[in-house]
Amino acid sequence: MNAPSGLRNVRGQGELAVQWADALQVISHVRLRGACPCSQCRASKLRGGISAVRDDVRVERIEVQGYGVQLVFSDGHERGIYPWQYLRELG
Ligand SMILES: [Zn+2]
Repeated sequence: MNAPSGLRNVRGQGELAVQWADALQVISHVRLRGACPCSQCRASKLRGGISAVRDDVRVERIEVQGYGVQLVFSDGHERGIYPWQYLRELG
């Protein structure tokens, strides 16, 4: 899976725009927060504790990590690294 050619954080609309070679994908920050793949979030989902995601949560910062992107959220959560393939599947 190749990295996207562009990543844009559209904070005003609460969306992340991902430019792939063949498509533009737009994912809401709320969706991204709810789909956080870090071990902590996955464990809480397994326990059935679907932790409520605030609908005003925003992506504050984007850190590209080679195989994916680390998202820093406005609620202070920053553990999730979203591999490109996973990100693509969220669309
Ligand atoms: Zn997480």
